[in-house]
Amino acid sequence: MIKVSFHFGRPVKPNIPIKNLTIVMKPLEAQIRKMFLESQLKADVSVVELVIGEPGQFASGNLNVARTVFEAVPSLQQVRVTWDGLASLWLATFAVLRLGSRSFHARRNGQSSLPEDDDLKAAIKAIEISQLLTKTELREWPAGVPFPTPTPATDEEDQVRRLFLGSLDFILSHERAHLFLGHQATDTVDIMKANEFAADKQAAVWLKGMRQADPNRSAGATPTSEELELEGWALRAGIALIWIALFEHHNGQSSSDHPEISTRFDKVLQIFGLSDDSGASEILSDTIKAWLDRLGDWDLGKDPAKATARAALDEAVWILHSRLAPTGS
Ligand SMILES: [Zn+2]
Repeated sequence: MIKVSFHFGRPVKPNIPIKNLTIVMKPLEAQIRKMFLESQLKADVSVVELVIGEPGQFASGNLNVARTVFEAVPSLQQVRVTWDGLASLWLATFAVLRLGSRSFHARRNGQSSLPEDDDLKAAIKAIEISQLLTKTELREWPAGVPFPTPTPATDEEDQVRRLFLGSLDFILSHERAHLFLGHQATDTVDIMKANEFAADKQAAVWLKGMRQADPNRSAGATPTSEELELEGWALRAGIALIWIALFEHHNGQSSSDHPEISTRFDKVLQIFGLSDDSGASEILSDTIKAWLDRLGDWDLGKDPAKATARAALDEAVWILHSRLAPTGS
C-alpha cells in the first residue's frame, strides 16, 4: 500500500534494538505522574491511584489480553496503564504531529498529495506500529521516531512530548471519569455504551475548563490566546480518540459495547465548541486523510463557505470510521 521511493545518497537508517518498552517509556514517568496529579487537582475529585505496569500484569481473570491497557478499576479506585500502552500513544502522537504538519504545508503550497519521503514514511510506520503494539512485543524502535525524554533536543520532539502528555491526560481523565461517575466494571451493553459517552464527556469538560471560542472573530482572523488553548485541548482529545480507534480496531473490539468512533468524535468536539476554521479540526482531518487516504482527493473544494475545517474533519472521521469499522458490521 505504501509507495516506495528511493532517495539516492540517503541511506535508510536501521531500527534501534530495544530490550522492552518499559525502559523506553520510563524516562517520562515523573512527568506523567505530575500531569496525572495536576489534572486530578484541577478536576477537584477524590484522589485515585495511577498504576503503571507491565503487559500481562493486569490480565489475570479476564480475557482481555491486549498489551496496551488503559482501564479504570472501580473496586480498587485505580486507573491502570501499561508501558506498552504509553509507548503506543507516543508513536501515534508523533505520527499525528508529523502527518498533520506535512499535510498543512502541502495544502498551503497547493499540493493535492503528499510527497513520500523518509520523514513521511517514519510517520506512517509509527502509526502502524502503534496499532501492532496491542498484541505484539516490540524489540526494535522505528528509525526516525524520537525516543521519549523529559528534556527534548528539538522543537518537534518537545511538541511530541507535550501533545503526548495532553492526549494521555484525556485518556486518563476518561478512565478517572468512570470512577468519578460510579460506573461498574461490567454492565449491560446499553449501559456500557452510555458510560463511554459519559466518560468522554466528563473528560472533555474537565480539560476544556471555562475556555471558549470567540464567536465574534471573523474566519481566518487570529484567535485569542483562550481560543488557542481551547484548540490545543481539542487537538489532544482528538489524538486520544484516534488512538482509541486504532486500539479498538486492532483489538477486534466489536461495536457492541463500545460506541462508534465517529459518534464519540462528534460528541467530544461538540463540548469543545470549536469554530468552523478550527486549526485543531484541520490538523486532525489532515492527519486522518494522510494516514488512510493519501491518494484520495483530500483537497476539499475551494469554496470557503463549504470547505471549512469542521466539514473536512467530519469527512475525515467518516473515513476513519469506515476504514476501521469491525469487519462484518
Ligand atoms: Zn471507557
